[in-house]
Amino acid sequence: MWYDLRMKYRIPKEVEIVSSGLRKAGFEAYLVGGCVRDLIIGKEPKDWDITTNATPEQIQGIFTDSFYENDYGTVGVKTGSLDARLAIIEVTPYRTESAYSDKRRPDTVTFGASLLEDLARRDFTINAIALDDAQGHLIDPYEGQKDIKDKLVRAVGNASLRLNEDALRMLRAVRFVAELDFGIDGGTAEAISKNSEHLRHVSRERVRDELVRILNSDKPMNALVLAQQLGILKFISPDLPRGIGVEQNQAHSYNVFEHNLRSLQHAADKGWSLDIRLAALFHDVSKPETRCWSETKKEWSFHGHEVVGSRVTKKALEDLRFPRETIERATKLVRWHMFFSDPEQITLSAVRRMITNVGEEHIWDLLNLRICDRVGTGRPKEQPFRFRKYKAMVEQALRDPISVKMLKTNGEHIMKTFHVNPGPKIGWTLNALLEEILDDSARNTREYLDKRTEELLEMPEDALMNLGEAGKQRREVAEDEEIRQIMEKHHVC
Ligand code: ATP
Ligand code: MG
Repeated sequence: MWYDLRMKYRIPKEVEIVSSGLRKAGFEAYLVGGCVRDLIIGKEPKDWDITTNATPEQIQGIFTDSFYENDYGTVGVKTGSLDARLAIIEVTPYRTESAYSDKRRPDTVTFGASLLEDLARRDFTINAIALDDAQGHLIDPYEGQKDIKDKLVRAVGNASLRLNEDALRMLRAVRFVAELDFGIDGGTAEAISKNSEHLRHVSRERVRDELVRILNSDKPMNALVLAQQLGILKFISPDLPRGIGVEQNQAHSYNVFEHNLRSLQHAADKGWSLDIRLAALFHDVSKPETRCWSETKKEWSFHGHEVVGSRVTKKALEDLRFPRETIERATKLVRWHMFFSDPEQITLSAVRRMITNVGEEHIWDLLNLRICDRVGTGRPKEQPFRFRKYKAMVEQALRDPISVKMLKTNGEHIMKTFHVNPGPKIGWTLNALLEEILDDSARNTREYLDKRTEELLEMPEDALMNLGEAGKQRREVAEDEEIRQIMEKHHVC
């Protein structure tokens, strides 16, 4: 049934200008793929694709501000929009694809097909719907709308054949499960299980891009469990399924595999960065090979799993061609995730050493990873008192101490400018100045401090000494106050 959808879906004017431009020049034009799927779901489309019977040259003839630099006929039309999603509208001629002998790329791409032929070459029914934005109706030969309603990813046509053409589609299926919170249709799932081996032929970069999208989605855990059930997780990384069935001690409700996944899911629930998500997924990856039974303790130990695990993580991420910086950050987090954090037993200098190990810029990520780790054990409380106290200690270790170094002057400057010899007078002066700027930070300027220095130096020595001592005491009070504020912030007063 055709019905008018123009009222229902808001199509941006940039998109309409391009599609109506094609039509005015005598061609067909339809919105297609992810944007139509997202419009029907009620999600904001990430980008907008138009398909047409015009050739790349004809498209470029209509839109002079455009570019064409690929083998698939896609012309990027620049719209001048400031919105990144609308700045370039991709226009692709209808096409068909011939055999895929390498299981990843069509041997030839042929233009000049019909809309229906073009929809037939697409991966899943939910992505094979076209929207005629002039008439306001959908062309949906594979019942994609029904699958959207049923929340199902289903291959267009014969699932086995389609997944065989391009093995990446298996991972795309799992990615849509993660991003849309859909399931996979039974026949398609079966075809994935049967054809999983073909994922070996897919470039690691393409696998990585799908993994990143899975990890950055709201539901990475479900999708990776499904990937495991379908037998494709090992092609993302053979190290991940090694934790399956590896049981742990009382403190853990889950085996190593499930614990890693639950830790990852918590990072996603919190909206934390890809670095933390990667580290959470891999943090206990080497527990299987480091596991030892202790007869005396009557429990498992996993000595050094974080050291081995950081090496394994590095290799796995290198294999997936992650950027060097991402690998460094994620492996560092894995390497140091076992840090000792009992504030009753730890000194501030041990906390400082920890910060030096992992790097000041990563310390908060490491603490967040600890939260994921804790939640991933199945223990209910997320941030117990002692952990908050440890956080307060980290903040205390990170803050600059209150000292005369904060002043916009220094001993050398004073000696030179005011012709004073080295001696206690310099220290008294600096401490007296510090007291003043602690009361009013606006006074911390060269001009003001020079003026005050001149006055202080003219004072009798014992009076200056008293002011200096008072300054020192005032500094201690201010230090205590800052620390108290940190404790209060973390609710550990
Ligand atoms: P999103 O934009 O959210 O990533 P999408 O579905 O638009 O999702 P794209 O990679 O942008 O995904 O591809 C656009 C459309 O091209 C898809 O909706 C699908 O119809 C088709 N497509 C993309 N990749 C493939 C593939 N490997 N095999 C078959 N069709 C594909
Ligand atoms: Mg898209």
